[in-house]
Amino acid sequence: MSEAKIIDGKKAALALREKLAQHIARYDKKPELAVILAGNDEASLIYDRNKQKAAQEAGMKCEIFHLPETVSQEELLSLIERLNADDNVNGMIVQLPLPEHISQAEVLKHIKPEKDVDGFCPVNAGLLLANSSEAIAAATPKGIMHLLKSVFPDLSGKTAVVIGRSNIVGKPLASLLLNSNCTVTVVHSKTRDIEAETRRADIVIAACGCPKMVKASWIKEGAVLIDVGINRIDGKLCGDIDFDDVKHKASYVTPVPGGVGPMTVAMLLENTFEAFLKQNNLKK
Ligand code: NAD
Repeated sequence: MSEAKIIDGKKAALALREKLAQHIARYDKKPELAVILAGNDEASLIYDRNKQKAAQEAGMKCEIFHLPETVSQEELLSLIERLNADDNVNGMIVQLPLPEHISQAEVLKHIKPEKDVDGFCPVNAGLLLANSSEAIAAATPKGIMHLLKSVFPDLSGKTAVVIGRSNIVGKPLASLLLNSNCTVTVVHSKTRDIEAETRRADIVIAACGCPKMVKASWIKEGAVLIDVGINRIDGKLCGDIDFDDVKHKASYVTPVPGGVGPMTVAMLLENTFEAFLKQNNLKK
């Protein structure tokens, strides 16, 4: 079989961001995103600065609220309340993980659902499960759907296996796939025979954080593979799929880096723009 085609997430994300910038340029008022970071995790700080840069390039305003590691839950919640009440702020994200003394569930519960552009709060998770058009879908799964639709404009009837059941990737992705009429199986660390499931699938999405776990022997000929994993082996980035092993068997595969990662940022910006339109009763 010929080599798998690469699904270029970097290119797709750039196209989305350029389109977004053109839309935003038409409005006098600009969408505004607030990013809350508690603590000094270097990787989180880099992620958040990248998000800020991308937002500004699209013509949005974006402020990072960098709080100390020792910030109390009350202080964090009062910042969220302040941003909830600020009509200029359209979207808000809280960088996870939070310091251990702060309850993630409690914090996510406090973000106004209309401003929850990460789509992590329970209201949006529920709306997504109910296939409501009101739902703000989590950015990474939404980005994955965009990439999949570039291969299969109609996903109806496809069998999809999602590896991983986290609240930020696996579960919302399973909902989105189901809402697009896929037949969905979610496998995880306690699944007895993952390979038996993945071998039957038209689409395999790996989001488990296990470097190069998915091998050619795990997939059927011609499968479409989406790699969400971000891992490092000897300092080098790799995904959850063994790219070199699967590339002669799969029909399409996303690379790491340059696949799902850039789509996450693009979708976060899209969610913020859509929140801005809704909050200001504007049409695209
Ligand atoms: P998580 O740790 O919250 O969840 C991992 C999931 O994988 C769990 O549900 C667990 O049951 C499952 N799992 C763990 N080991 C497994 C195994 N051996 N077999 C099958 N399932 C297993 O992780 P997460 O936040 O969902 O992220 C998953 C991966 O995706 C990580 O590498 C993360 O860095 C990456 N990620 C990338 C992006 C992006 O934008 N590209 C966004 C979010 C997460």
